[in-house]
Order: sequence, then structure tokens, then C-alpha cells
Amino acid sequence: MKAHDGIYLDGAWLPAASRDVIEVVDPADERVIAQVPAGGAEDVDAAVRAARAALPGWAATPPAERAARLAALRDVLTARKDEIAETVTAELGSPLAFSRAVHAAVPIAVAASYADLAARHPFEEKVGNSTVLHEPVGVVAAITPWNYPLHQIVAKVAPALAAGCTVVLKPAEDTPLTAQLFAEAVHEAGVPAGVFNLVTGLGPVAGQALAEHPGVDLVSFTGSTAVGRRIAAVAGAAIKKVALELGGKSANIILPSADLARAVNVGVANVMSNSGQTCSAWTRMLVHRDRYDEAVTLAAAAAAKYADRIGPLVNAAQRDRVRGYIEKGVAEGARLVAGGPGSPRERGWFVAPTVFADVTPDMTIAQEEIFGPVLSILRYEDEEDALRIANGTVYGLAGAVWAGEEAEAVAFARRMDTGQVDINGGRFNPLAPFGGYKQSGVGRELGAHGLAEYLQTKSLQF
Ligand code: NAD
Repeated sequence: MKAHDGIYLDGAWLPAASRDVIEVVDPADERVIAQVPAGGAEDVDAAVRAARAALPGWAATPPAERAARLAALRDVLTARKDEIAETVTAELGSPLAFSRAVHAAVPIAVAASYADLAARHPFEEKVGNSTVLHEPVGVVAAITPWNYPLHQIVAKVAPALAAGCTVVLKPAEDTPLTAQLFAEAVHEAGVPAGVFNLVTGLGPVAGQALAEHPGVDLVSFTGSTAVGRRIAAVAGAAIKKVALELGGKSANIILPSADLARAVNVGVANVMSNSGQTCSAWTRMLVHRDRYDEAVTLAAAAAAKYADRIGPLVNAAQRDRVRGYIEKGVAEGARLVAGGPGSPRERGWFVAPTVFADVTPDMTIAQEEIFGPVLSILRYEDEEDALRIANGTVYGLAGAVWAGEEAEAVAFARRMDTGQVDINGGRFNPLAPFGGYKQSGVGRELGAHGLAEYLQTKSLQF
């Protein structure tokens, strides 16, 4: 794997001030595949200064020209899609077919959507006797996780650039090569120096220095609720804007009228893809008591099919954490019907696709985010009971509802405390706002709502 030994600063790859490095490891075989700099506070400071210096010029660049750079970025990502897929597979471990279909393809669609939105957004509106200007928020700190490494970068950087903001990116320590490849693409797309900067590094060092930096106007963070809470506190103390995309524990509600086999099969596939490392995964399947046993049999069979197809978890700590949850599920009385805590392979951080039946809403595995290939199946008595269980966690990121008629599923979805619901297997829409209710986050990403996060208004009265 190609790796840069510098940080991308003011349009060039420069040596980091910090001498520390991060070793990048292939989770499928535990081999070190590359080294990148672990930037420190000095590197973050240099990057924020570069972004600050580039802000007036980029903010004043006509939206059509910003849109043209984003269209060029989309084209570079498209031309390099195979390299993107291979890089994500090497450092995240996801099977190559999934890396191609999702990790490479979705960010291209999102970059394309912002090339279009940047060209069409009015950036000025009339409200009575006022002209309202939509101006960029300023310098953006983008802090991203490893589970969808390119998507989470593009979902922040593309709308920020469309809005006229400049950016310092601190990607996850497990997946810095994808971030370096993205920086190369930004460079190739002709984005002016300083508009986008990349500092690879550790969360508590580079990430924290970036969130705390007084030269940053908005911190946009995707990651765990624990770190999000700290970032919100830091941003709050400095009265900085903050956007948080955090954890989830989403429910897949199968109403009695649904096509059970389809709902269960799609539900299991949703949890097992990306080895369960998806914040919006439907990790709680809710089935009416009359159809419960049939659903459990179908789910166990569906999960078994993933045994040879599933990738590893991203690192040893994540593997151990997931195993710990599986052991806890067993200890709290849930019934294991597929998988389990054992190691399915000698090398690599694999966990077998796991399904628990007889899970009750108060169990740890029904409440906490596991972030691994683990599905919990819960039994409900009637719709009110299903709704209580579905809404009964601190999270509210996503969900699914299945019913014989779409209208029945929609009526249920309206009562759910969550930011996204797929009706009868509705497909991903890169223009629909994505984000959480409750502790799943603050703010929205993607589409016009995602663009609005990077804009502030100024009203001129006449
Ligand atoms: P994490 O919170 O540990 O790390 C996320 C990022 O924050 C990384 O870049 C990390 O280096 C950085 N970081 C860590 N400590 C920091 C600190 N003190 N100050 C500043 N930055 C710091 O999360 P993770 O383990 O990388 O990712 C998994 C989590 O992300 C899961 O909880 C998942 O649900 C969540 N997630 C949410 C969404 C969403 O859109 N809601 C999407 C993907 C992942």
C-alpha cells in the first residue's frame, strides 16, 4: 500500500513536526502494511493556520467555480475507484466486493450530489424587506471514524467546500491510507492550496488539539457517543458550532402482515455487512410473538450463510469488545442460535456472524451499541409494545419497518424516535438527511440539510 510520510498542508505533502508514527495493520492477517505520521499539536496548528489563510479567497470564490472543483473531485474519485476499494479493504478488512459497491461507490455519489448542490444553491434569498445571505461558517475541523472511512470524510468535506468553508481533516487512526488517497484526489481536482488540509494522528492528541483550536469555527465529528460528548463540551466552552454523528441501536420492526422471510433476510444482511460496524445497523429485530419462532429459524439460517463471507473487525480491541458483549448476552440469559464468542479463524480479527434469540429489552445486548456482527431478536405482544421497545434506548439514528402495506409501515414509522427509517427495504438515498435523534447526535449530514450545517445567515434590511 502506498503511504505518504508527511501531512497534507497548504497544498503540499510536508514532513510532520511530530516524529511519532501510526502503524497501519491489515485486520485480515494482522500484518503491518504501512506507516503514517502521528501528527501533534504543532501540526494541527500549522494546518488550521493554512485553512484560516485560505478562507477569504475560497469563501469569495463563485459557487459555480466551487461546484466545478467538486465535479472534478467526483471524477478523480471515479477514476481511482478500484484503488479506493483496495485501500479500504487493506486497512479496514471489508471484503473487496463490498468495498467496491459501498466504500468506493457511495462517496462518489455524495461528491456528485454536492457538485450539483453547490451549483444550484441560491446562497441568497429574499425575506420581506431583507436579503438573507448564506455565508460559510469558516474553518471546519472534520474528525472521522474508520467504519466507512471515505464516506464519512466526503460527507463532511464535500458540503464544507460547497459552502465556501476551508477544512482540516483528522481521520481515524485505523484507516489513514484512505484519507491520504482522498487528499491526493482533492489535490488532483485543483482545489486551491490551504482549502483542504490533512493531519493524520491519534484522537486524544491530534483530534483533541484540533477540536480545542481557537482558529476552528465548527467541529464536525463522527464517532462514538463517549468522544462526541467530550467534543461537545470543548466546543460548548468556546461557543463553537458543533455537529455530531454518534452511535446507534436501531430497531427493525417486522409487523405481523409483513413478508417475514424477506424482512428477516434483509435484516440479517443489514447487520452482517461491514462486519456489523455500521452505526445505523438494525441490530434489534422485533418480531410479533405469533411469528417469533419462525423468524428465529430463518435468521439463524441466514446468518450461517455469512460465515465464510464476513470480513474481520477493524482491530483487536474491537474484536475483544464484541466478544465481551456476546459473552454478556449468554450470561444474561439470551439464547445463542448462530455464531458465538469463539475465534472462527487462526489469524485476523474475525467474529462469527452471531444471532441471539429470547433477548429482552433490558439486556445489555438490547441497549448498548456492540459494533460487530451480532443480531438480537426480541419478541413483542402488540404494536404498542413494539413501539415501546423500538423507542426504548438512548439512541435514535435509524430503523426499519416491514408491513404488508406501505401505509401501515409508514404509520408506525411516524411514531418512532429516530432520524431515518427504511420502509419495506427502501434503498439508501444520498440526498436524504442523515443524523440522530436523542444521543445519536446533533445536526444532519447529506443533501441540502447537510450543506446547511456549513452555512450561517446574514440578514440585510432595506
Ligand atoms: P471514536 O469516537 O473512538 O473515534 C472517532 C474519531 O475521533 C477518530 O478520528 C478518533 O481518532 C477521534 N478521537 C478519539 N478521541 C478523541 C478526542 N479525545 N478528541 C478528539 N478526537 C478524538 O469512534 P470509533 O471507534 O472510531 O468509531 C466507532 C463509533 O462511531 C461507533 O460508536 C459508531 O456508532 C460511531 N459512528 C457513527 C456514525 C454516524 O453517522 N452516526 C457513523 C459512523 C460511526
